[in-house]
Amino acid sequence: MVIERTTVFAMRCPACGRLDVQHLNIFQLAGNRTQDIYCECGSHKASISRKGANYISIHYYCIICDHEHSIILPKSIFWSKNRLNSLVCLDTELNLGYYGSYRLIRAELKRQQEELNSMANELGFDDFADPEIMLETLDYLHDIAATGGLFCECGSQDINIELFSDKLELSCNNCNSAMQIPASSKFDLDRLKSQGEVVIKLATGKSKNSKTHR
Ligand SMILES: [Zn+2]
Ligand SMILES: [Zn+2]
Ligand SMILES: [Zn+2]
Repeated sequence: MVIERTTVFAMRCPACGRLDVQHLNIFQLAGNRTQDIYCECGSHKASISRKGANYISIHYYCIICDHEHSIILPKSIFWSKNRLNSLVCLDTELNLGYYGSYRLIRAELKRQQEELNSMANELGFDDFADPEIMLETLDYLHDIAATGGLFCECGSQDINIELFSDKLELSCNNCNSAMQIPASSKFDLDRLKSQGEVVIKLATGKSKNSKTHR
């Protein structure tokens, strides 16, 4: 009986950033063979080989630390039909790609793409002084909001974010206090990051739950 074993390896190219999906079957790793994975651009991304009878080893180039990482895992995980495994930087845990089930990887990549598309559409990229800085600023605000570092002096963490070409406006959904965050340069972003948290100052003369709109 021949048991067909295939898996999928999807890793962001350290040179060009493309995330290709490569199909591998068990014959490509037969014996002592090493399977090298290349990006369409020609860059070498990873090498995969068997380690003894029961393990698979993956060497991969990490763009974050600028050197190679290597992991060894049970072959049952590598060839599993129902796992989505993350390939990460061993120093920072940041994601570099995936391997495992084609169905799950395809779904995950589709989800990420849709998230990006909807963000880009929502934002109307061309309108921004510096789209990259705007995205990073937004990303950072989401991060600190997730750790409780974004709030209003009234105590509310229910904050609305509105985007303008060169700044964001944060407003408290509870008391309507607002603040602006410049987001048109690296300097703006660095300054925001250095603060550690973002606190909206209470606007004076506005009562709680006031329905004033500007
Ligand atoms: Zn490439
Ligand atoms: Zn790394
Ligand atoms: Zn408030």
